[in-house]
Amino acid sequence: MSEIGYEVLAVRYGTLPSRKSELYYRYESYKDADGAAALDYYFWVLRGGGATILVDTGFDPAAAERRGRTCLVAPLDALAEVGIMPAGVSTIVVTHLHYDHTGNLHAFPDAHLVVPARELEFWTGDFATRPQFAPHAEPADVAYVERAAQEGRVRLTQGTEEILDGVQVVTVGGHSPGQQVIVVESAAGPVVLTSDAVHLYEELELDRPFAVMHDLEQMYAAYDLVHDLERSRGAVVVPGHDPEVFLRHGGDGSNGNRVAVRIA
Ligand SMILES: [Zn+2]
Repeated sequence: MSEIGYEVLAVRYGTLPSRKSELYYRYESYKDADGAAALDYYFWVLRGGGATILVDTGFDPAAAERRGRTCLVAPLDALAEVGIMPAGVSTIVVTHLHYDHTGNLHAFPDAHLVVPARELEFWTGDFATRPQFAPHAEPADVAYVERAAQEGRVRLTQGTEEILDGVQVVTVGGHSPGQQVIVVESAAGPVVLTSDAVHLYEELELDRPFAVMHDLEQMYAAYDLVHDLERSRGAVVVPGHDPEVFLRHGGDGSNGNRVAVRIA
């Protein structure tokens, strides 16, 4: 058990209106009516023991515009709104190398990166350029991570690792070949930042895989892992893209901050 008790923030910087039939894998197989749905875009902040740690860095506003995504606030501006300057960030946990998690890394030249080994291997390998994979990553971001690794600035993770006192990362498959979920010890107990291992609460509640996937069996296995953390350790689960995260954690403006909610 960690002594630290991290503060955990979810910072929302973008949104995308969508349909259930677009967000879920083979939605028609459930025989449910289609309906409006949305993805919100987040990154996360951990503060404790004198350190500020980011979990992902959002998308680059220019890349977002090219991709037709709505940036509510540029991620670096959102960071400033919660009182963090890039120079104050010691560590960035990169959950996976999809474009909406790796933008803006260049703004943190002194931070140490924590990247799943399998993820870097995949996105620098032969299959990354194939049509069903390529649109999800920005080659310049992947090259940046590769360069940082050559400079000795990247900790490559696999399996389950304690990267800092009270911060554990677990590599899972499913959505992306080697993404990691983060288990953080807060004063209120463990928090699981699933990032895109779970985009939406309903994936867990209804056992419905997300449309963007690398491996269906591994996606179900990741859901099982998250369920298990919830049941066995009473963890608060924070999906990677659900607008509900903001609502469930006081994002109605009552906390006085338009971009972030405090998870714990
Ligand atoms: Zn993703």
